Amino acid sequence: MLQDALVGQLDFDPVALEQKYAEERGKRIRPEGQGQYVGTGGKFAAFGADPWADPDFTREPVRDHTTVIVAGGGFGGLVMGARLREAGVDDIRIIEIGADFGGTWYWNRYPGAMCDLEAHIYLPLLEELDYAPRHRYSYAPELLQHSQRIGKAYGLYDKALFQTTITGAEWQEDQQRWFLTTDRGDELTADHLVLACGRQSLPKLPNLPGIDVFRPHTFHSSRWDYGYTGGDPSQPDLTKLKDKRVGVIGTGATAVQIVPEVAKWAKELVVFQRTPSTVGVRGQCETPADWVDMSQPGWQRARRENFQSYLLGLRPDEDPVGDGWTKNLDILIPETAAQLAERLGRTPTTEELLHFAEINDYKVMNGFRKRIAELIEDPDTAAALTPWYRWWCKRPCFHDDYLPAFNRENVTLVDTDGQGVTGFTETAVVVGEDEYEVDCLIFATGFEAAIPYTRLAGFDVAARGTALSEHWKRQVRTLHGVSTDGFPNLFFVGGNVQTAMAVNAVHLIDELALHVAYIIAESRERGLSSVEPASAGVDEYVDLIVNSEKNKASFQFYADCTPGYYNGEGNAKTGEDLFSGARYGDGALAYYELLRSWRAEGSMAGMDGSSGHGSAR
Ligand code: NDP
Repeated sequence: MLQDALVGQLDFDPVALEQKYAEERGKRIRPEGQGQYVGTGGKFAAFGADPWADPDFTREPVRDHTTVIVAGGGFGGLVMGARLREAGVDDIRIIEIGADFGGTWYWNRYPGAMCDLEAHIYLPLLEELDYAPRHRYSYAPELLQHSQRIGKAYGLYDKALFQTTITGAEWQEDQQRWFLTTDRGDELTADHLVLACGRQSLPKLPNLPGIDVFRPHTFHSSRWDYGYTGGDPSQPDLTKLKDKRVGVIGTGATAVQIVPEVAKWAKELVVFQRTPSTVGVRGQCETPADWVDMSQPGWQRARRENFQSYLLGLRPDEDPVGDGWTKNLDILIPETAAQLAERLGRTPTTEELLHFAEINDYKVMNGFRKRIAELIEDPDTAAALTPWYRWWCKRPCFHDDYLPAFNRENVTLVDTDGQGVTGFTETAVVVGEDEYEVDCLIFATGFEAAIPYTRLAGFDVAARGTALSEHWKRQVRTLHGVSTDGFPNLFFVGGNVQTAMAVNAVHLIDELALHVAYIIAESRERGLSSVEPASAGVDEYVDLIVNSEKNKASFQFYADCTPGYYNGEGNAKTGEDLFSGARYGDGALAYYELLRSWRAEGSMAGMDGSSGHGSAR
């Protein structure tokens, strides 16, 4: 037993763990950083093709005006539409690349796909629609159905344009409106434009030698080929894999859900691992009617805020969600800063706080490592599945069947010791000197992230002769993460721009949508044809974000992490290189309160309005 001055006795050696983490990180750093990946454009277009849409779909171009155009029909666009309707704005057009609403849950229909946060806090608008999720963690078909439920309940299908890609958006100053073009020849105008294009919508593949000559059947996890595997999203019986040797590249949050399902059906499954995930207890179950008391007004917001309080280490008295997220938080943050100060009889120094956090992190990770040792029968496989980094360095995973899948006779783990798959021959996956023949290879290799917002949106936005990509080239500039100077009547919902760090992204989306709906409704009420943040207000907010000590500490934490999409593959130089982006330093609850109090104050502080001639008011 070691004695630690701050936390007492330790049954592990923190110095040895620190060294082990650094050593493992070193193995994974790749000089090409994010350049190791390629998107699904050009010769890889087939990997991005929509398996769920009618390829022969056609329609006449649309030329008209709506009050609001929302780019993106995932949870961001849907909640935006719902909150606008509630605020009295009815004339809404959502434009979506997919053939239906759903976003993430439109695309991701792989077997085993489910939300990784409790459904009652994750699904939007449950209280408004009086809908109780069927499982503690909803499966993808229910999430897609819920998207459709929102679309119908709020009339968002009426003007929606599906299978439509926006190609450009320009602010027409003289008309005080946005003008948009699409790949279907549409010419659309709107008073307000909301970008709700998601933050991980573009699939990516490893850009490795031979990828373009590899002949076995391939697809990306977000474009599951049920024609090849058998089954369908609601009944994923992958019967056609029973004589197939299937490879899966990746062991992130997606692969953790896919592996147990493919293992059940494939003759053989080979999982190629670069970095193991942390995989805790899921505790999936059907939700009885009394799972959550949905009769209390405001129950969903209260439950979400309680969960967020937990994640911030505020240790609320009750833990209604009570799952792997919150239970590990009990270990990660066993005392609030105030409790720690009381115990020490003084304010802890910054170094002490960092040390306290690090020691508790080792405890959390030791718990995950112990679980592997207990569940995995083969010691070598157990060792290979063991993660060596701090808990938040990668998306924490929870699953009841992932680890046990590696005890199956038909499942092989190919651990690449941090190097990853190195290439392909015409028939095999190559790892160093070794070749693995497969009939089918599933790329669970993730999505483009932490890249300029306009790239994720897929089109640029211009106002007064300046493109948004140009405006943000040196520095992302926003007021509260929802609008930017020089771009009137333009709003962002759900991207990673100067908002708050929130594990429950749908909670964040909802707070943003409420805020944007307020601004749009309020500016209409005041007869303003345009509204935009004043540059001084933007300067002040950007300064608050960029120079926040907490934000700087958060940046350093992620920069030191094992490489991944969270930290620009280990090469992050500024907060904007992180997936989380530069965020409001005091955390999500303080950020939500900032938005709420701004609205309550009522003067639209920091925004300039114009009542020049409107277009179609
Ligand atoms: P990730 O980016 O998390 O994982 C990609 C995986 O591919 C990693 O394991 C990566 O290894 C691996 N990889 C990449 N290149 C190679 C290579 N050359 N050789 C071997 N392995 C390689 O993508 P996911 O799709 O798993 O998850 C993306 C995000 O989607 C999650 O983090 C989560 O936020 C979200 N998600 C949410 C769910 C939900 O329920 N809400 C469910 C599933 C996903 P390495 O780690 O070493 O980079």
